[in-house]
Amino acid sequence: MSKLNASDAIKHLSTYQERDGLSVQSLMDSKTRGGLTYQDFLTLPGHINFDASSVSLKTKVSRNIELSAPFVSSPMDSVTESQMATYMALMGGIGIIHHNNTAEEQAHMVRQVKKFENGFITDPICLKPSATVSDVLSIKEKLGFGGIPITDSGFLHSKLLGIVTARDIQFQNLNTPVKDVMTTELVTGKSGINLEEANKILRVSKKGKLPIVDAAGNLTALLARSDLLKNLNFPLASKNPETKQLYCGASIGTRDADKERLRLLVEAGLDVVVVDSSQGNSVYQINMIKWIKDNFKVDVIAGNVVTREQAAELISAGADGLRIGMGSGSICITQEVMAVGRPQGTAVYAVSEFANQFGVPTIADGGIGNVGHIVKAICLGASAVMMGGMLAGTTESPGEYFYHQGQRVKAYRGMGSIEAMQHKLKKKSVVNAEDDSKDNAASGRYFSEADSVKVAQGVSGDVVDKGSITKFMPYLYNGLQHSLQDMGERSVAELQEAVKAGKVRFELRTASAQLEGGVHGLNSYTKRLYA
Ligand code: GDP
Ligand code: 5GP
Repeated sequence: MSKLNASDAIKHLSTYQERDGLSVQSLMDSKTRGGLTYQDFLTLPGHINFDASSVSLKTKVSRNIELSAPFVSSPMDSVTESQMATYMALMGGIGIIHHNNTAEEQAHMVRQVKKFENGFITDPICLKPSATVSDVLSIKEKLGFGGIPITDSGFLHSKLLGIVTARDIQFQNLNTPVKDVMTTELVTGKSGINLEEANKILRVSKKGKLPIVDAAGNLTALLARSDLLKNLNFPLASKNPETKQLYCGASIGTRDADKERLRLLVEAGLDVVVVDSSQGNSVYQINMIKWIKDNFKVDVIAGNVVTREQAAELISAGADGLRIGMGSGSICITQEVMAVGRPQGTAVYAVSEFANQFGVPTIADGGIGNVGHIVKAICLGASAVMMGGMLAGTTESPGEYFYHQGQRVKAYRGMGSIEAMQHKLKKKSVVNAEDDSKDNAASGRYFSEADSVKVAQGVSGDVVDKGSITKFMPYLYNGLQHSLQDMGERSVAELQEAVKAGKVRFELRTASAQLEGGVHGLNSYTKRLYA
């Protein structure tokens, strides 16, 4: 056997017709292989000559909206309300606020995100002077804080009269009105003050709270000393370059009432609307997209789709982005019940390959369970991923924690579950909260009004406490950077070009390869994902 010269090893590669592994085109040849999920393949490593920290994850979720990270939170009532949307945007992604609520409630949530100012509490709970010590205690018990501004009307934007703190109410009778115990000598900041100046006043005054008031003495915001200690710096924040406000998305349905809903959302400052439907290729959605493009300037993300043909209809109607996935969600039983859907890897590839030719970014929606799935979705052409289950159970997701079989959990449920259609998540009920008894506009995503029997397409369950997304998102971000580094690609855009050009290669995983890729052969182990 002739021995080649080691110094010719790299040159010798050119004698092979193709690079090692499969191109994306042959990997995704569904005619011969069937549909693939993220689990069914791996990417092959490339050559590293740069730091992981220099990898850029900039991407687009729609024609006009660029993000620092490809992360989108799903419009589900156990995933995205204002807190999640605020923190998703602060961490470089975007949140899509669900519409299993009234139009006014949803618009209020959008406004909260758009008005968020780093460090300032822009919607502090207030009380009126006649409220009692017992009211303060009940807020403390339910929401965890007891420093409450007292205003004339009991609401924000009303004259600030005092502030009541835990110390003021110690040893007081439960029925004592707060006006008798509140502190009235106040150190305040003027509206318009920036965070740095406000923090300085807080530091010098040694107070626990700094109420911010306008020229007429009305309360406009609050600053808490405890927040000074937290990290207030979000360098990746996704912001509208003109207004400098955080980006915020929201979902709507395709009924006439959704047009009025959208008007309220746009008034609240919405940047991108998601037309929410499990099968997007309908005359209702097509008409809705056209109507939105004729009447508003917001970007429209349409869907869901899993085929080129569906995508073509929505792109020609004017969609600025597409959401891909049918039946791949963790809470989803669509493929089982309807026998309609597509394995997610194949769906993401087929739709993205088509849509990207028109400059329409795609979002891989559902079935994201780890960093590897995100990388694979991006390799297959998606510009971003939408997550439900991954973000449920975090501090920022709606709903309260409870204990289930000894574990601290939060509810997570499909929007097509019977539970989501019939009830909204139990909300925090606080003193002064507005009337919560109004009926919801139940989501039309899975049921039509004429249905006499509701056929569920999702389940309802719970997920364990995952802590705050302020810790979890950096883990996803850094994990992605390392993965791109392993493939030898410096950015999302470069990675996608390299995949198309056949430079980044893939390998199918047999069932035994999947076993090999998991932890095996240990008696017991702990799996900590980040530290
Ligand atoms: P307190 O002294 O009992 O009010 O609690 P801390 O000031 O130690 O902590 C309050 C935490 O709750 C801070 O992180 C605030 O940003 C947060 N928070 C969120 N909403 C509100 C609100 O409406 N009022 C107050 N006082 N704090 C809030
Ligand atoms: P996950 O990230 O948990 O795997 O999936 C979240 C996605 O599942 C959502 O963004 C949405 O597209 C989809 N989804 C949400 N609720 C339901 C449901 O009840 N049924 C089905 N089929 N899909 C759902």
